[in-house]
Amino acid sequence: LRRNPGETEFHQAVREVLETLGPVLVKYPELAEQKIIQRICEPERQIIFRVPWQDDRGQIQINRAFRVEFNSALGPYKGGMRFHPSVYLGIIKFLGFEQIFKNALTGLPIGGGKGGSDFDPKGKSDAEIMRFCQSLMTELYRHIGEHTDVPAGDIGVGGREIGYLFGQYKRITNRYESGVLTGKGLNWGGSRARTEATGYGAIFFLEEMLKVRGDSIEGKTCVVSGSGNVAIYAIEKAQALGARVIACSDSNGVVVDQDGIDLALLKQIKEVERRRLSAYVQERTGATYLENGCIWTVPCQIALPCATQNELTAKDAQSLVRNGCIAVAEGANMPTTPEGIHVLMDAGIAFGPGKAANAGGVATSALEMQQNASRDSWSFEYTEQRLKEIMVNIHRNCYETSEEFDSKGNYVVGANIAGFLKVGHAMAALGLV
Ligand code: NDP
Repeated sequence: LRRNPGETEFHQAVREVLETLGPVLVKYPELAEQKIIQRICEPERQIIFRVPWQDDRGQIQINRAFRVEFNSALGPYKGGMRFHPSVYLGIIKFLGFEQIFKNALTGLPIGGGKGGSDFDPKGKSDAEIMRFCQSLMTELYRHIGEHTDVPAGDIGVGGREIGYLFGQYKRITNRYESGVLTGKGLNWGGSRARTEATGYGAIFFLEEMLKVRGDSIEGKTCVVSGSGNVAIYAIEKAQALGARVIACSDSNGVVVDQDGIDLALLKQIKEVERRRLSAYVQERTGATYLENGCIWTVPCQIALPCATQNELTAKDAQSLVRNGCIAVAEGANMPTTPEGIHVLMDAGIAFGPGKAANAGGVATSALEMQQNASRDSWSFEYTEQRLKEIMVNIHRNCYETSEEFDSKGNYVVGANIAGFLKVGHAMAALGLV
């Protein structure tokens, strides 16, 4: 705490992991001797830099950007870039820390990192987004590379931004290095199923949790917070498997549609027109919009937080329990507060933590890197099948690890320990670096 003052979210993420690791150090004392815990909490490298750019009125704007290269024991640093006004070092460090364990769980050779900027993309023109991305990459390019650090998207960073970032990287370095960024467009090195991967993966993980309980997603009423990349494709896969998704949200309000969210309309508004979610009710009769509403008060059997950190509190969890919720799978990173997690688990709700449940995005990014390295391009069906296998394996690994450490069915314990063991043993093998 004293070393990292004010980094609230980072402290929260570290505490949640460390609280579960006691039995691991008893079983593997060599990891304690090697001071793996102390080492893993300290990023290998943190880069903070200025991003000057000019808006459409010709005014000069200054933002701050970050890249935290947290751990490279398993492979090049890998993790997204977030553009949101709330971004500061504490958020990027929490995300980078979580990424280490998540990436280890995928079973693929990727280390953990994260980056972003306090730039707010809302209301900016395409030209402004492009100038900002070009300026950011003019510094970032010297720190990244397909064998070094491979950024991707996150909140506020999708295909458009990755395009501008990649274009500038290519221009500065004079190298068509496809593997330097993931989340690229399909006709310039991207992978099929990457756009869908995080949302689909969260539903695959949810299905496995329900299977253990002899249940399935079919016919269940679901609510999904957010209406961005993760939320949209979680809704798509949940609907494909027979669930009834009745609500989604953005930072201004909640849409409730008891007939089931019209996904084509939602995509048109969010992906094509880039409008606010409130536009949904103007186009759809029967749907209601709750301005500044709380999505967790909408009765459901399955809740999927897919927006942002700490969006599901103890009070929200109590409301889910009261309304008969049976499962929560986190599409977002750390969306449930520690108190919220306790309420859900005490009530016997199946709880899939983000580290495990949303690992499908980064896993498919690693598949994109594989395709780039072999100059290949796989079909949608094959890539989705690989994603599904990875999610089933992550679930099994977390479940079996929770059993091994006397916490059967506690996926928080399972994910933290399974991820930690993989990275910890690798760090020990690599010596004091
Ligand atoms: P997007 O930018 O596509 O969408 C984010 C959604 O969350 C928007 O609907 C946004 O609403 C809402 N949101 C963001 N910040 C807040 C806030 N402070 N309060 C309320 N709502 C908010 O991002 P993604 O869908 O890519 O990311 C969502 C979550 O999933 C994040 O936690 C991210 O780290 C995580 N994640 C993403 C992966 C990916 O592959 N994209 C992979 C793994 C995890 P509004 O438009 O009003 O801001």
